[in-house]
Amino acid sequence: MNQDVLDEAVLRPSQRSALAELTTPPAPQAPPRRAPRVDKNVRVAIVHDWLVTYAGAERVLEQIVACFPDADLFSVVDFLDDRSFLRGKPVTTSFIQKLPKARTKYRAYLPLMPIAIEQLDVSAYDVVISSSHAVAKGVLTGPDQVHISYVHSPIRYAWDLQHQYLQQSKLTNGPKSALARLILHYIRNWDIRTSNSVDTFVANSQFIARRIRKVYQRDAHVIFPPVDVDAFVLHEQKEDFYLTASRMVPYKKIDLIVEAFARMPQRRLVVIGDGPDMQKIRAKAAPNVEIMGYQPFKVLQDKMQRAKAFVFAAEEDFGISVVEAQACGTPVIAYGKGGALETVRDLSSSRPTGMFFEEQRAESIIAAVEEFDTHASRFVAADCRANAERFSAAHFRERFFAHVRSAVPALQGASLPVYEPYVATPAVSGAAQAPRVLAIDQSGVLGGAELSLLEIVKALRARIEVVLFDDGPFRTALDTAGVNVSVLDSGALREVRKQGGTPPLGQALKGVAALVRATVARARHADVIYANTQRAMVIGALAGRLARRPVVWHLRDIVSAEHFGRKQLRIIKWCAKLGLAHVIANSAASARAFADLTGFDEKQIDVVFNGIAAAPFDALRNVPVATLRARLKLPQDAYLVGSFSRLARWKGQHVLLEAMVLNPHMHAVLVGAPLFGEDPYEVELRAFVANHGLGDRVHFLGFQHDIAACMCAVDAVAHTSITPEPFGRVIVEGMLAQRPVVAARAGGVLEIVEDGVNGVLCEPGDAHGLADVLAELRSNTALRERLVRNGYQTAIARFGTAAYVAGVERILKGVVGGKKAR
Ligand code: UDP
Repeated sequence: MNQDVLDEAVLRPSQRSALAELTTPPAPQAPPRRAPRVDKNVRVAIVHDWLVTYAGAERVLEQIVACFPDADLFSVVDFLDDRSFLRGKPVTTSFIQKLPKARTKYRAYLPLMPIAIEQLDVSAYDVVISSSHAVAKGVLTGPDQVHISYVHSPIRYAWDLQHQYLQQSKLTNGPKSALARLILHYIRNWDIRTSNSVDTFVANSQFIARRIRKVYQRDAHVIFPPVDVDAFVLHEQKEDFYLTASRMVPYKKIDLIVEAFARMPQRRLVVIGDGPDMQKIRAKAAPNVEIMGYQPFKVLQDKMQRAKAFVFAAEEDFGISVVEAQACGTPVIAYGKGGALETVRDLSSSRPTGMFFEEQRAESIIAAVEEFDTHASRFVAADCRANAERFSAAHFRERFFAHVRSAVPALQGASLPVYEPYVATPAVSGAAQAPRVLAIDQSGVLGGAELSLLEIVKALRARIEVVLFDDGPFRTALDTAGVNVSVLDSGALREVRKQGGTPPLGQALKGVAALVRATVARARHADVIYANTQRAMVIGALAGRLARRPVVWHLRDIVSAEHFGRKQLRIIKWCAKLGLAHVIANSAASARAFADLTGFDEKQIDVVFNGIAAAPFDALRNVPVATLRARLKLPQDAYLVGSFSRLARWKGQHVLLEAMVLNPHMHAVLVGAPLFGEDPYEVELRAFVANHGLGDRVHFLGFQHDIAACMCAVDAVAHTSITPEPFGRVIVEGMLAQRPVVAARAGGVLEIVEDGVNGVLCEPGDAHGLADVLAELRSNTALRERLVRNGYQTAIARFGTAAYVAGVERILKGVVGGKKAR
């Protein structure tokens, strides 16, 4: 839950009509079903806030359901695609389920949720268990019923975090702020009133128990949430490095950890994870800090097992990764606040599993790490593992069942059912394991987006069908890769220009309708629609709606006015609202622009960097440059600077030509063609070459398929985009080719290039700066060697194809399975 709740609850026009529902009595519900009787005829109902994903609260719910497998389930809404964690059980929902856009905007109905939860009729049950982080605990129960509420947290944004949320939502004053405050006031009153009908509270940590005491003036029994400790295996041999791993968002304070280790050059830190803070974090890294980005589970576990200690600086209610590290036998150095205090035993214990630092400051972390090293022999891997096992799912079930039994006299003799893993029907589990994917792309040519998709498609070949809106070399490449591909005739839509050019409306609509129809027909055979380009996303969003399939957009653009027309931006916003299940962004820069434009829930945006295969580049390691130059008809002795982008003004090839005027001893090699109708730009470039007498120093090679060979033939790679590049595949390719790379300082480039370390940055559009850097590169061998060495390492460590494919696959699977991507 985040500030979007407030945004949506207060701002959205749809909400105004929804607010009117508050005064309209909801539709009468069907009479209560006969509840099945379990354990000495005790009937159990389980109420959860909303069922749309599989995150922390749902993991708890899963184990509660395992304790009471015959219970009936209730929730405000249920939009789960994979309900295996509920053991396939049906769920009774409230009237919100049927309100407009409830699937994606259910949180906008927050003001209606109290009334919705009160309409769920659980009067036929002896025991009601609510699993609540918002409103579930408000379900109505009578004097003969026992209501046990597992509170993940009292509704945070209505209580102590209200001011923070209002600030973040820019709702500090004005009429919208007043309305937001009014709604939160009403929710607070309701929240307190309903706490009175809870018989016993269970909290997920002492921290939440304190919140419960503060807000409801009630005691709570603490039962920690279940952690899948079995997935993390004990490993006793440790190596000489520290690890931290998490999403890179501000409150995780990864930057502090990196800063601390940068000041301890003799100690090695490995950092795993990705997110909006990556850039800031990378800026603080030093050579002893290895930033690995997002890694698949196998790599994460391997590092967790071998690390000397796991470092954790966030203040969390609980902190699952802290327990996972201990499950691997790895001690933890954690910020001594929140859940970590309950999951880590410090040096005051006879069998310590870690230690704490007092403040979220680098100095404090440094002191703790030093102290940790002094006492290293006291931390025993088996002790860490034993401590972690206290948080296993089995432990949770035992403790929770015992608690319910003690609160319900009729259950005194009952015992916890033997746990049986739920086996889903083949259709459901098949989809969760390996979703069938319908990939759509508007283009038939081989742009960066298409080359990046090709990598995914090759890996998922058996389960993916590709639809293109245009024929061309991309279709040929897919055919060659043995992929099931078809081309739909986009007709008029092809005319819709990226910068907002407009075909006649009727014609455009006809084109759109035809594409949507054809896409819907294919989507029926898929579990998820995976759109790779902006226009494909628009068609995908419409088709997904009609075919009732989740839509994932692989966002490879910076959706700002620099790249898109106003109309296009409006359409993107509209589609985001219409129902994108998830967005995969190719860089944090792309993710940020999209979130800023649409207000899309950041939990549904993941950054997955493109992956580029090293093999074609490595294969050329022993091929003499002279051979490559001869093959491409390039001069043998000249200093060649290559540009490897389609010819387009924003790619800035003219800047490189201007730099050539300033550096008369260099040659430029322009690889690429005007792929998207920018032929006049090529004419302009050629005219510039003629007018400046550059004919013998500028080599136009047109579109080339063997980019590795072209790159290995030049001396340096220049990337000259004049507006922010969303990612910049060519930069990584230049690094793989072991050529020094000069790139424009903007957008996703900043997430790849560390200035002076693995490449050099120049101001976008600055031909003089570029000319100077190129001259420096030519004369400074030490600089060149450093960039090449570090660049290659960067490309291998952070932009490999395995992590890229795994990242995308994980998200597609998660969306289909209704599970949150970890
Ligand atoms: N490329 C290519 N042949 C060419 C020119 C470029 O295959 O003649 C490739 C280039 O190697 C890179 C991609 O096209 O892999 C361009 O991707 P990038 O992310 O740099 O830019 P985009 O085209 O996505 O804007």
